[in-house]
Amino acid sequence: MRLETERGVISNGVNKAKALKKRVYIETYGCQMNEHDSERMLRLLEGVSYSETKEPGEANLILINTCSVREKPEHKVYSALGRFKGLKEEKGTMIGVAGCVAQQEGDRLLDRVPYLDMVIGTQAIPVLPELVQKVEVFGQRVCEVGFDPEGDYLKTSLPRGPLAKVKSYVTIMQGCDHFCSFCIVPYVRGRERSRSSQEIVGEVRNLAEMGLKEVCLLGQNVNAYGKGLKGELGFPGLLHQINEVEGIERIRFTTSHPRDLSEELIQAYSKLSKLCEHIHLPFQSGSNKILKSMHRGYTRETYLEKIDRLKEACPSIALTADVIVGFPGEGERDFEETLDLIRKVQFDDLFSFKFSVRKGTRAAQFEDKVEEKVKQDRLSILQEIQKEITLQKNQALVGSAEEILVEGQSRQSDRDVTGRTRCNKIVNFEGDIKLLTGKLVPVRITKAFPHSLRGKTA
Ligand code: SAM
Ligand code: SF4
Repeated sequence: MRLETERGVISNGVNKAKALKKRVYIETYGCQMNEHDSERMLRLLEGVSYSETKEPGEANLILINTCSVREKPEHKVYSALGRFKGLKEEKGTMIGVAGCVAQQEGDRLLDRVPYLDMVIGTQAIPVLPELVQKVEVFGQRVCEVGFDPEGDYLKTSLPRGPLAKVKSYVTIMQGCDHFCSFCIVPYVRGRERSRSSQEIVGEVRNLAEMGLKEVCLLGQNVNAYGKGLKGELGFPGLLHQINEVEGIERIRFTTSHPRDLSEELIQAYSKLSKLCEHIHLPFQSGSNKILKSMHRGYTRETYLEKIDRLKEACPSIALTADVIVGFPGEGERDFEETLDLIRKVQFDDLFSFKFSVRKGTRAAQFEDKVEEKVKQDRLSILQEIQKEITLQKNQALVGSAEEILVEGQSRQSDRDVTGRTRCNKIVNFEGDIKLLTGKLVPVRITKAFPHSLRGKTA
């Protein structure tokens, strides 16, 4: 891989023989993309003799994989760095920051935090081993935040950890061209970039051969898959190809943008047997005035129409979404429209956020900001309403027969295993972890809770 940086070009080629047995501790904030990136970093570091530790005190290297989508996770980076300062002073532990904050802040982070060794941008993951070696061998402080023209940063590494035999994320595209007025993603993840379908399908086949049953296709805006690649399939075409891979039983994807949700994709839910009955379709606001100033490119009416079409094509589909409260200019009526949309759609679950100003985005300049207390009140009201809907949705499943893909031991009891339905609901039930992990098991739902279900093998 070549990485174009402000300081020229660097390419892979670490002297693995010289590497010693060392430990790495990774702390991850943010979305699935970041979780997946942390997995990739661990894999790459294993190749140069680092093994994972869950104890920062045991680590030779600490990596903080950051998120800057909202203010709260961004602040966590600085408090995490503060926590690890003592280890640096005491034991000389190497410390690196990766992810969106690294990409955004670059050299400024090294200036601001004198004990920081490494800044690893969102597309620099493949050269992480070289960066580590530069710090170890030459004692340099390094910062790589260039964008990778060859797209090598998109390659998925083999899954690891407890889910390695069950399911895996597969990156199909990254970046975003939408520029919603509140969002930092296009600035820190770059423009939309897709991998070839041949490479993706090959990777899914490999995962199937390893015994994995489920893949979740990852991208900031999966509907834009294939754009910019000459002669490439679109997203529904890619789903059709993956549906043909023997051994893979379940396909999921995240995230799709309502504006680009095509009729062909909606129809895929009725045509593709392996496509799970769940879609995460962020709506952000139920008010047309706010949607316009968010630059989302759809109205509440077109969003609701698409939801109706999805429910027609796939009556059992589970719906989840993201929503923001307190966007600049959001009045009581706009907020009421958001609540109204939530009541109409009856989402299975919602990820709700208070608007947070992101420096460099257009919304950062917007006037008519909503007071913090009002934002908090609106968030609490919305979450109370959704809690009730989620519980009702879960209760409606009591008595039904569900197919569960078992992921491992339940956190609540060592006699229970845990897994997910095709609609992505968590189900715990009594069973043998060794026998059942990675298997599809028929289960009768016996009880509903706000965040999970209980069942019994049928
Ligand atoms: N690409 C996805 C989409 O368009 O729906 C969203 C990706 S973004 C990483 C995840 C979620 O974070 C968004 O859907 C939005 O609800 C939330 N988010 C992004 N920027 C935000 C901000 N400035 N304040 C609050 N929430 C924000
Ligand atoms: Fe951000 Fe909008 Fe792109 Fe989603 S579509 S990543 S919210 S800019």
